[in-house]
Amino acid sequence: MIGYKTLAVPGPTNMPFEIRQAMDVALEDHRAPDFPEFTKPLLEDVKSIFRTTEGRVFLFPGSGTGGWEAAITNCLSPADTVLTSSFGQFSGLWVEMCSRFRLNVLNYDLDWGEGVPLDLYRRRLEADKHHEIKAVLGCHNETATGVTSDIAGIREILDDLGHPALLFVDGVSSIGSIEFCMDAWGVDVAVAGSQKGFMMPTGMTLIGVSQKAMAACEKALHSSCYFDFRDMAKANDQGYFPYTPPATLMRGLRASIDMMHREGLDNVHARHKHLAEGVRAATRAWGLGNCARRSTLYSDTVTAVVVEPGFDANRIIQAAYHNYGVSLGAGLGKVAGKVFRIGHLGWLNEPMVLQALGGVELAMRDCGVNFTAGSGVGAAIEHYTDRREPLSLAAE
Ligand SMILES: *Cc1c(COP(=O)(O)O)cnc(C)c1O
Repeated sequence: MIGYKTLAVPGPTNMPFEIRQAMDVALEDHRAPDFPEFTKPLLEDVKSIFRTTEGRVFLFPGSGTGGWEAAITNCLSPADTVLTSSFGQFSGLWVEMCSRFRLNVLNYDLDWGEGVPLDLYRRRLEADKHHEIKAVLGCHNETATGVTSDIAGIREILDDLGHPALLFVDGVSSIGSIEFCMDAWGVDVAVAGSQKGFMMPTGMTLIGVSQKAMAACEKALHSSCYFDFRDMAKANDQGYFPYTPPATLMRGLRASIDMMHREGLDNVHARHKHLAEGVRAATRAWGLGNCARRSTLYSDTVTAVVVEPGFDANRIIQAAYHNYGVSLGAGLGKVAGKVFRIGHLGWLNEPMVLQALGGVELAMRDCGVNFTAGSGVGAAIEHYTDRREPLSLAAE
């Protein structure tokens, strides 16, 4: 294949040259006397991306899934009750992990395309007079369906009821891309991964942990050593790690945070919203649906486009990849074959989104989908040129 491959999956995302270059360094001694000069500011600055000053952020080797496990194994004990909801592949897998760790899981199994059910959560928490529920889980951005849920709304319920449960949030495909306020939303454990909004290679999970969650660690029966928050905190306080840290990835993280700071975190979020609206305009112009049930649930990092009933969405994904080198996200689990997903997060500007949308149009044509060529790309261009200043240039 001649030319660049187009990565339009919702993670891994496009890696900026600046981050690649920052990682092109010799391996370093993680016990060197001056290592803390690098790690201490890094651990401090990463907190700004989670919007926390009260909590701390730990960097563990692993991926987002490891972050889920860390949340469960540090703060809870077997047989503890957790309140959860599943409405897509990722929310569902975290709930399943809770069962595998022998927690008592109160789960709401919802239609895919829905989000965290605030009303049901409120009713269940209200009924929990003896505070049996130790943690409430929320998937902030369900990547399989392109649904963003209201995490602040969960906090409001907990506060209204004076319920002391911990709030665990999967922010793997939201943190660093769409607004996430760990302190303001009272999130106790927030899980992120390096290969999504952070624009880095896979291999690091970043976990925001509140003081309340750290206190819960003291009481919980730990079932993990590798992901132990207390071991990590103790070593981090000195600028070190309990075992060999992914120092090369940490060099990349330094560059990633610097890039987000330079653009301004609010601008990063605004850019994602702006780019996402173009993708949604394209989807409408094609006459196709959005897997998210309501516009208030639309995700600014990924759109799951619903194809005509009876048509296999995988045909479009295959054609896009084989004929044009464009990687689209496949439908997972219950929506396999029914949707294709366009990832629009990370290091991305308008032409890069148009490239993905153009690839989708070429592939849909190859598959005989009935739509007007250029309609989606055109609708996105209309949206992108409707504003005074191109965001991607303004950021430089
Ligand atoms: C990608 C993703 C995960 C899983 O992360 P891995 O890095 O693949 O382990 C979990 N939750 C959400 C919402 C995701 O998008």
